[in-house]
Amino acid sequence: MKRTVVITGAAGFIGSHLSEALIARGYAVVGIDNLLTGDAANVDHLTARGFRFVEQDVTNHIRVDEPVDFVLHWASPASPADYLNFPIPTLKVGALGTHNALGLALAKQATFVLASTSEVYGDPLEHPQSEAYWGNVNPIGPRGVYDEAKRFAEAMTTAYHRYHGLDIRIARIFNTYGPRMRIDDGRAVPNFIAQALRGQDVTVYGDGEQTRSLCYVSDLVDGVIRLMHAQTTEPVNLGNPLELSVAALARRIIAATGSRSTIVHKPLPVDDPRVRQPDIARARELLAWEPRVPLAEGLAATIEYFRAKLGRIPASAAD
Ligand code: UDP
Repeated sequence: MKRTVVITGAAGFIGSHLSEALIARGYAVVGIDNLLTGDAANVDHLTARGFRFVEQDVTNHIRVDEPVDFVLHWASPASPADYLNFPIPTLKVGALGTHNALGLALAKQATFVLASTSEVYGDPLEHPQSEAYWGNVNPIGPRGVYDEAKRFAEAMTTAYHRYHGLDIRIARIFNTYGPRMRIDDGRAVPNFIAQALRGQDVTVYGDGEQTRSLCYVSDLVDGVIRLMHAQTTEPVNLGNPLELSVAALARRIIAATGSRSTIVHKPLPVDDPRVRQPDIARARELLAWEPRVPLAEGLAATIEYFRAKLGRIPASAAD
């Protein structure tokens, strides 16, 4: 029998890649999204292949009639610019949306998988970050709406496991990039690529010495699917340990696009983490997983995607 997966946030960047990978592995996928930051065009090509799209806000009751084997709760604004624009929906989808998605999983006796985040570690005082680290988050800072919603979501998910015996997984996802990121989502990778391709200044915030570790989306999706089938209810970091400074990333992207853009510095956003690098020992051990796509290869594929996208945007809108 075909196994059925419900994915909230299925029309988003990672949600759409997850949907595609699961369909390719023979699952039926019900994708739910309110399209606040997602785009139905990301999943249009899947509807002929066992994917059913439901436009719905998961902060309200989620109704799915058929039996369900997995609930993957991916819905949330996920870029700092988005959650600054939508602070209350971000808190609601992390809190009420998680509660509803857990309720659906419990009713269906499904395995629940939470898309958590490296943001639970905040501006970390331990480096690299292992799952044992409790984090350094400012609850009332601008990023608090996302960080605390995800921390609440982890607590709620764990409570459903302890109290109801629900089978759970928690993926702590570090910076991920690839095709289908929104060109205007405000994150470093789409900003730098779009700016470089348009010949505009590349905006590095602060001195650019803050670090991130970038995982290509196909690697991340592979890790999530392994986690779905693993026997652990503990949080698992998923990310690429290769760490680089934001300024170095900007230089790599300028070179890879062949652009003549130059770097300009803008103010560092409040509470911007100084460093970030996953310790993936747990994922290596429990999932036999590690990222494989080199940065140069992942960036080349992402640049191709944005190049094609920019080609389709009228010049006036692209300026
Ligand atoms: N950043 C930057 N220029 C931009 C966008 C982001 O220098 O145009 C920096 C940002 O301040 C942060 C890093 O790049 O230090 C990664 O930001 P992103 O928004 O991609 O995600 P975050 O890891 O902060 O959630």
